[in-house]
Amino acid sequence: MTTPPRIHDRIELLQGDITQIKADALVTAANAGLRGGGGVDGAIHGAGGPEILEECRRIGGCPTGKAVATTGGKLAARWVIHAVGPIWRGGGQEEAALLASAYRESLNLLVSLGGSSIAFPSISTGVYGYPLEEASVIALDTILRFLRREPRVTHVKMVLFGERTFHAYQRALKSLSE
Ligand code: ADP
Repeated sequence: MTTPPRIHDRIELLQGDITQIKADALVTAANAGLRGGGGVDGAIHGAGGPEILEECRRIGGCPTGKAVATTGGKLAARWVIHAVGPIWRGGGQEEAALLASAYRESLNLLVSLGGSSIAFPSISTGVYGYPLEEASVIALDTILRFLRREPRVTHVKMVLFGERTFHAYQRALKSLSE
């Protein structure tokens, strides 16, 4: 009898640039207008090519807490999932629920597309200003809960840009494993 892989073996923390990652889907931290931007979104559109933005224009937009999929363009991914995280406004505007939802909706979309591997950046902790310590716990807790109930997602990579972000996610994963 084969035993399914342990939950913690299906999630990996990496420090680096998400555009270099191979997965069925790469998630970008998009804005609600899907207009492309700076940060990780700029990097993904830059590496994936104009086809992605053309598809975003056809889709038109995406509410905060939700996600939409486009082609992966020139990236080593079948799809880019554009997830819209909340802008931090002090914590009283449903930011935590909206951030969790952005991760969950991305994972649901991956499953509905038939994919099994996905790479995430740290949504909302750049220009959107979400405090890193809180965001890292929400991101990992949401992903771990999802993996517990959904065996079809076999690989989740959290691709963290910079040491500070990477270390925050390492601490969060450790705290959630205890
Ligand atoms: P948001 O607007 O949701 O805050 P940002 O793109 O400003 O999105 O930042 C989200 C996170 O993505 C930040 O931790 C930022 O350092 C990181 N980031 C920027 N470029 C990349 C990249 N190429 N790969 C992975 N993460 C990146």
